[in-house]
Amino acid sequence: MAFLNKLTATPLRQLTSRSYAAVSHVIPTGPSFGITDDQKQFQDLTRKFVREEIIPVAAHYDKTGEYPWDIIKKAWSLGLMNNHIPADIGGMDIDCYTSCLIAEELAYGCTGIMTALEASGLGQTPVIIGGNQEQKKKYLGRLLEEPIVAAYAVTEPGAGSDVNGIRTKAERKGDEYILNGQKMWITNGGVANWYFVLARTNPDPKAPASKAFTGFIVDRDTPGLTPGRKEQNMGQRASDTRGITFEDVRVPKENVLIGEGAGFKIAMGTFDKTRPPVAAGAVGLAQRCLDEALKYSLERKTFGVPIAYHQAVQFMLADMAIGVETSRLAYRLSAWEVDQGRRNSYYASIAKCHAADMANKIASDAVQIFGGNGFNTEYPVEKLMRDAKIYQIYEGTSQIQRLIISRNMLEEAKQSAK
Ligand SMILES: Cc1cc2nc3c(=O)[nH]c(=O)nc-3n(C[C@H](O)[C@H](O)[C@H](O)COP(=O)(O)OP(=O)(O)OC[C@H]3O[C@@H](n4cnc5c(N)ncnc54)[C@H](O)[C@@H]3O)c2cc1C
Repeated sequence: MAFLNKLTATPLRQLTSRSYAAVSHVIPTGPSFGITDDQKQFQDLTRKFVREEIIPVAAHYDKTGEYPWDIIKKAWSLGLMNNHIPADIGGMDIDCYTSCLIAEELAYGCTGIMTALEASGLGQTPVIIGGNQEQKKKYLGRLLEEPIVAAYAVTEPGAGSDVNGIRTKAERKGDEYILNGQKMWITNGGVANWYFVLARTNPDPKAPASKAFTGFIVDRDTPGLTPGRKEQNMGQRASDTRGITFEDVRVPKENVLIGEGAGFKIAMGTFDKTRPPVAAGAVGLAQRCLDEALKYSLERKTFGVPIAYHQAVQFMLADMAIGVETSRLAYRLSAWEVDQGRRNSYYASIAKCHAADMANKIASDAVQIFGGNGFNTEYPVEKLMRDAKIYQIYEGTSQIQRLIISRNMLEEAKQSAK
């Protein structure tokens, strides 16, 4: 106890239950942010792949909006995709921490390409957490056999933050479910081999979300399933975002995850595992901004000296470094928590929210340091600023992350008041 007191410099009686709990579990068993030899190998391999295969073509994919199949094929053959698939299905079963290290490196090269890769992981995670062995073998196994991708289809034109507002419905008819409805903003929507789809199975509008929705695996080639046009987005333009229409799409009951009514929990539980790598992606982008800005500030001269010698510019660089380092610590803690088998929603939301907000500020500051050149497509930071914005929107907006964080705090305060 004295040891804890000394380390925290806070009298124990003054600690809130959260900070006490955090301190008491963090210090003795503590998160270690050291990197194992295996993790270092993954990091080095990804870094080399990014330098050789992604950075040289990132501007091309941004300009054309082509889907980066060439890169996906290469990443697949190197084992940089699908590596969280369980070992008994033939996957590498790597932990969340390692997948975050890979995500940060990929994002450094191009977050549009990284999102195309990452969204397949998002589509797979509901099957990893809720699928039975048959479903895993069939659908996750398929992704290990050839370089194809999956997608996660939850959002609709009228329901994004408010998942409870989903209208796509699934009606049971014999051994099948018939799906009708419309999804929107689905990453990999036009290129996926199969989708995780959340649909309402309980027609009672008063049914609680925890019972009203069911999660399905739906094959791309099922009749009645039609992806819409590729959306022209502000940034991350290599990524494929589309609406999807479901018209009398027949899905066998074997493709239900866990059972009727379990869908909401699976869809939301997925984010505990996927938000840390999304946060890591934002850190990769922010680190790239910082590196580009630092390099430029040493080359560009005004008033007879490199702009890096002006204190105002130095302080912007320092603030950028603060944002990168704190966001990196936040995603590592949130990944470490989930790898300990603990519920990490609170930490995952902090990491995602902080890293997204920091990436946007840092990208904007990088453009500022480049001056007029920063506003131009011939220089790298204009793309980085456009690419950064989506981090505050997808996988739950920054407002929704703050809702989750504050709800967790209030819940805990209520518990400790009892
Ligand atoms: C490029 C891209 C890729 C995407 N990929 C996928 C994908 O693969 N799969 C998928 O299912 N979805 C995907 N999405 C959808 C994304 O998750 C949603 O856009 C996001 O959750 C926000 O929902 P919305 O667009 O309906 O905004 P809304 O929910 O309408 O929100 C609008 C604004 O209101 C704020 N707001 C809403 N409710 C509250 C509240 N209670 N308190 C405070 N503020 C609030 C929001 O923060 C936001 O600022 C993607 C979106 C984009 C743009």
